[in-house]
Amino acid sequence: QFPFGRRLPCDIYWHGVSFHDNYIFSGQVNKFPGMTEMVRKVTLSRAVRTMQDLFPIEYNFYPRSWILPEELPLFVTEVRMMKESDPSWKPTFIVKPDGGCQGDGIYLIKDPGDIRLAGGLQSRPAVVQEYICKPLLVDKLKFDIRLYVLLKSLEPLEIYIAKDGLSRFCTEPYQEPTLKNLHQVFMHLTNYSLNIHSGNFIHSDNANTGSKRTFSSILCRLSSRGADVKKVWSDIISLVIKTIIALTPELKVYYQSDIPAGKPGPTCFQILGFDILLMKNLKPMLLEVNANPSMRIEHEQELSPGVFENVPSPVDEEVKVAVIRDTLRLVDPQKKKRKDTQALTSPSAAEARQPGFAAGMKDKQHKHHSLKLSLKLKFYLKPGLSQTSEHVPETRDELLDAGPAGGLEYESSRHAEAGLPSLCLKQVFPKYAKQFSYLRLVDRVAALFIRFLGVKGTTKLGPTGFRTFIRNCKLSNSSFSMASVDILYIDITRRWNSMGIDHKESGMCLQAFVEAFFCLAQKKYKALPLHEQVASLIDFCEYHLAALDEKRLLGGRG
Ligand code: ADP
Repeated sequence: QFPFGRRLPCDIYWHGVSFHDNYIFSGQVNKFPGMTEMVRKVTLSRAVRTMQDLFPIEYNFYPRSWILPEELPLFVTEVRMMKESDPSWKPTFIVKPDGGCQGDGIYLIKDPGDIRLAGGLQSRPAVVQEYICKPLLVDKLKFDIRLYVLLKSLEPLEIYIAKDGLSRFCTEPYQEPTLKNLHQVFMHLTNYSLNIHSGNFIHSDNANTGSKRTFSSILCRLSSRGADVKKVWSDIISLVIKTIIALTPELKVYYQSDIPAGKPGPTCFQILGFDILLMKNLKPMLLEVNANPSMRIEHEQELSPGVFENVPSPVDEEVKVAVIRDTLRLVDPQKKKRKDTQALTSPSAAEARQPGFAAGMKDKQHKHHSLKLSLKLKFYLKPGLSQTSEHVPETRDELLDAGPAGGLEYESSRHAEAGLPSLCLKQVFPKYAKQFSYLRLVDRVAALFIRFLGVKGTTKLGPTGFRTFIRNCKLSNSSFSMASVDILYIDITRRWNSMGIDHKESGMCLQAFVEAFFCLAQKKYKALPLHEQVASLIDFCEYHLAALDEKRLLGGRG
């Protein structure tokens, strides 16, 4: 820690809160610009909704949600209509304040009329969501899963998932919501920070019992009951990839604004905490994403009334130490340097496989560094505990067993990492990229948006930028004049800006641009489903822009 700043640049910056904790111009930092904003309940719900509009089936892992206060009338109408069409539907809803955490301000309702809008329409933004009434129960208790995900890079997209996570249990036996039990937080909310205050909370050193357990212990139990845990894992992997695909377009807008291409800047990675609920039928549902998941490996124990002491929590330690250790191994700047050196000196593969080659002559310091690291980490690895992960069904390993990329990099780092356990973080993207690439439509729309942003450092498109986009992509014609283009721009931009998301800059934000783009696509390709309309319009725009670039290139040469 350098409380008074540090003149020399670092290899890795470990920020406590956000990308903006320090001004940095090089190295790697453990936060992406804009991530905190992106995973807030309202923004996440919006980003997932855009994907649900395009791909409703693929994105049905997120409960139906409405944003308050602006969608309150829509919420009331839609619920009324759904009830009319299916009178047996007796839903419950959960209201969550935006930016809240640890269950703060959350409440359940049966009727849309029960929403508490304290300050009327100016009230704090919140999300109201369909409540999942039939969660999977273990020992009659509701629980959720905290999984750690490493977003190693945005461009190209690289995602890793930790092989084990935490299961956090409620402390009152679960009953489906009724007007009588709606207020019982220990029955309905799985937050550790709430349940720790219940008299029934069980601290446990054993990963298979207690109010906080490893996820692998739950999978073992499910597997012994005959459940298809391989499917559970593949559904979870696809939920994680799809969620990140929903977040990347806006993250790229933030990224280019804070780290403009061609200027010195750091590269980013980030550990995210995914909160997932398994339904009774084992379908995983996304509850939320945390940009700053707690990495505490201790818990508070009440020694006598009012007197607390921090004691080690073996379950947290087992899961979290491995996540941090592997993150550092994956972003290891020495590994990158070795790779670069290898590329420069082009050794033969055989040479590279010589023991000690990678950590060799050029990089004595590295050996020292990784030894120190491995000693420290070994200190944390309690053999008894890490063995629990061995009991996890092999199927899960097979599924997540992407392993480090083969070849030189792997060989050369193997020696340096000898003595460390195998990676708990498994690559899932680009490993499964082929299956998911068709979903990345909004990413391509964001690329168009960024191209027309113009001035570096902005996140919003001005009217001139929007007109240039229309003109360069040849979207205006006799039935869609430039005057209509201006009206479209003003209408959509005004509405988005009145939602009070970000008043720092004027202009059209990405979400507004996406809405305008969908409008244009629907107009141009009437009969197709929305995702095909959007894909066709993207192809059309990309084609015209490529032609324009070529023309400019030839013109330049000429
Ligand atoms: P917070 O950030 O305040 O923890 P969450 O979205 O994680 O907010 O919700 C808190 C808890 O409420 C979750 O851990 C889960 O137990 C429960 N919960 C949240 N959303 C739902 C839902 N749609 N259906 C059922 N339970 C939910």
